[in-house]
Amino acid sequence: MLPVLDARRRILASLSPLPAETVPFGDVSGRVLAEPVHATRTQPPADFSAMDGYAVQSKDLPNSPEHLAIAGESKAGQGFEGRVPPGSAIRIFTGAPVPIGLDTVVIQENTKLHPDNHVEICGPVTVGQNIRKAGMDFNQGDALLEQGTTVGPRQLALIAAANVCKVCVYRRPRIALLSTGDELVNVGEVPGKDAIIDSITPALACFIDQNGGVAQILPHARDTLSAIKDTISSLAPCDMLVTIGGASVGDYDLVRSGLGESGMTLDFWKIAMRPGKPLMFGTLGETPVLGLPGNPVSALVTAYLFLGPAIDRLTGRPPREPALIEASLTKPLSSNGPREAWLSTNATFTGGRWQATPHPIQDSSVLSSLAAANAFLVRPPYAPAIESGAPVHIHLLDRSLIF
Ligand code: AMP
Ligand code: MG
Repeated sequence: MLPVLDARRRILASLSPLPAETVPFGDVSGRVLAEPVHATRTQPPADFSAMDGYAVQSKDLPNSPEHLAIAGESKAGQGFEGRVPPGSAIRIFTGAPVPIGLDTVVIQENTKLHPDNHVEICGPVTVGQNIRKAGMDFNQGDALLEQGTTVGPRQLALIAAANVCKVCVYRRPRIALLSTGDELVNVGEVPGKDAIIDSITPALACFIDQNGGVAQILPHARDTLSAIKDTISSLAPCDMLVTIGGASVGDYDLVRSGLGESGMTLDFWKIAMRPGKPLMFGTLGETPVLGLPGNPVSALVTAYLFLGPAIDRLTGRPPREPALIEASLTKPLSSNGPREAWLSTNATFTGGRWQATPHPIQDSSVLSSLAAANAFLVRPPYAPAIESGAPVHIHLLDRSLIF
C-alpha cells in the first residue's frame, strides 16, 4: 500500500497545466491566470480627495483659525474646472479630483461654514493631508496579479479597476465522472428494494465545479466488464476520467480490469489510508484516470485529498497542501492500524487552543458524520492508543473552499 504523500506526488507528477485561452472580463471569475495582468490605466487617475471637506492651498493657512472664501465645488465624477483664486477654498467630496493649485484637504469636521460663503478652518493642518495621489493604487502598465493566481472577488475588483477587458487564463479541466454499480439510481428516481441513490456523482460534480473544472457526467455503468469497456470506448475527449466504485477486491469490482483491458497503464492501486484504501491511478492514452472508492465517505475524502490538488495542477495553480495544526483530543482513541487515518472531526477553538472531537461513527459509508465535520483528525499509521487531552494533528476544512 502506497503512503498518502507518495500517492499525491505520483498523481501530481503526471499532470501539467492545460493550455491557456483568452476570456472576456465577464468570464474570469474563478479562473486561474495564465499570464500576469497589467493595468491599462492609473488609479486613481489624478490626485483625489480621501474625505469630505475643503480643498485648500496650504500656504494660505499661516495661522489657524483662518477664513477662506468658497470659490466652487469638486465632486466625484465632476471636478472643479478653472483656476482657484488665491486665498480661497473649494468644497470637495470623497473621490473628487483636487483642483489644480490646491494641495491639502481639510476634513469637514475641522471647519465651520459661515453664512457669507466663507469657511473657517479650525484645528491644525498638515500639508498634503487627505489626498490620494495619482497612481497611489497602481500605475498604467504595472503588473497587478501574478500568473497562477485564482481570480476571486478581490482579484476581480483589481482587474475591473484596471479596466482590463480580456484575460489570459488556463482552460478549465473537463473531468468525466463514471459511477459504477448495479444498485445505483439517480436522485429523484423511484428506487427499487435494494437500490442505492448515487450521492457521489452529484457531490463530485459540485466539487469539480467549485474547484474550477467542468464535470461531464456519464451514465452509470453496470457491474460487468463489457458495460465498463463500452463506456470507456465511447468516452468523449476529457482532461481526466474519475471513476467511482468497483475499485476493491469483490467479484463485481471490475473497474480496474475494465480499464486495463481498455489499455490503461496502471500507476498505483491501494494506498495506506483509511478511509480510501482502494484508490487507483493510471493513464488511458493521454488521459489520467483516478479511480475513487465507492464508499461515499472514502470517495469524498479521497476527492478532497487527491482530486482537489489534481485540479489545481491542471488549472495552473499551486496544488493545495493539507495543512495540519495541533489540537487537544477531547476523548480517548484506540491504537491506529497500518493506514493513515482521516477521522471526521468537530474542532472548536476554546481556551486558546483547538479541541478535537472525532465523530463516534467513522464508518466509510456514513455521510452524516462527514457532513457534520469541520475538520479531519489525521493519525499516522500504527499510532498508539491515546487519552483525552493528548496532542493530535487536525486539518481544518477551509471555509473559503466549499466542501
Ligand atoms: P464498491 O466500491 O462498488 O464496492 O462500492 C462500495 C460501496 O459504496 C457500496 O455500498 C456501494 O453501493 C456504494 N457506492 C458506490 N458508488 C456509489 C455512489 N456513486 N453513490 C453512493 N454510494 C455508492
Ligand atoms: Mg460497486
